[in-house]
Amino acid sequence: MSFELRNKRVFVSGHRGMVGSAIARQLASEDCEILTASRSELDLREQSDVRTWFEREKPDAVFLAAAKVGGILANDTYPAEFLYDNLAIETNVIDAAFRSGVQKLLYLGSSCIYPKFAPQPIPENALLTGSLEPTNEWYAIAKIAGLKLCEAYRRQYGVDFISAMPTNLYGPGDNYDLEKSHVIPALLRKVHEAKKSGADRIVVWGTGSPRREFLHVDDAASAVVHLMKTYSEAEHVNVGSGEDIPIIDLTHLICEIVGFEGRIETDTTKPDGTPGKLLDVSRLSATGWRPRYDLRSGLRDAYDWFKANEATARLST
Ligand code: GDP
Repeated sequence: MSFELRNKRVFVSGHRGMVGSAIARQLASEDCEILTASRSELDLREQSDVRTWFEREKPDAVFLAAAKVGGILANDTYPAEFLYDNLAIETNVIDAAFRSGVQKLLYLGSSCIYPKFAPQPIPENALLTGSLEPTNEWYAIAKIAGLKLCEAYRRQYGVDFISAMPTNLYGPGDNYDLEKSHVIPALLRKVHEAKKSGADRIVVWGTGSPRREFLHVDDAASAVVHLMKTYSEAEHVNVGSGEDIPIIDLTHLICEIVGFEGRIETDTTKPDGTPGKLLDVSRLSATGWRPRYDLRSGLRDAYDWFKANEATARLST
């Protein structure tokens, strides 16, 4: 069963963020009308505002990409905001979409919904089989609730609401604030600045041994648009590249791309987080979708974007 985007009114929530803006770029070739709402226009945490907006704008389809996001330290530092803001955004948007008659909604979660010691690669059915990684459990709990909400509305009301769980994403529009960002933008910036200032070393958080899977955000956007058009099941779908890499090897690759030859030191006072979270992407692969970027070409693209936007990138938020 396929869902046609052509001539539809498609709401991309979170269009200013890295993922939402990539989805909007991807939709540009779909011949649909893209609806967006800036934060000053619509605070997605305010239930009645969200309901009013949906009743007025009547979108046909929704990408729920709006979320309070951040790296390992931000998650650990702002637990209340990570839990409350995300719960509020999800419940408001999913319920308003149902009430206003949205035909299809795709909810974006995260690979951190899975247990800390899930089998690798992690199949979708590993959800809720063990304890979460404590450094991001606030975000994970909210993301699990959103996924379950889509499932519940689907079961009770028969609506076509689906969920995608992307792995760690990076690319144009990323957050380069060293305290709040994820590892790729943090390392691109640290290594770039070390090279510029002639420093002889850079510092990596944790032991460098955790493994992470990464996907360029344009690939993630192409995957979720593909799912919106072709997937219509209650089970959520993992979205990843299918390959992971230890943080220390990622650091060497970034040093090579930036052209920095200094030392790499580890700061073990900073958390490692979960030892690994490689997704099993067989459900996505079975739909015929494949990523376009490998890690090296994706990192080059992200670094080019960072250099071109250094003055205006989100260095601190
Ligand atoms: P996570 O996947 O939720 O743990 O999110 P991150 O992308 O923030 O961190 C991934 C891994 O990279 C963790 O093991 C971090 O300790 C490690 N890491 C190494 N250096 C950095 C850094 O400068 N910033 C961040 N955010 N993580 C780093």
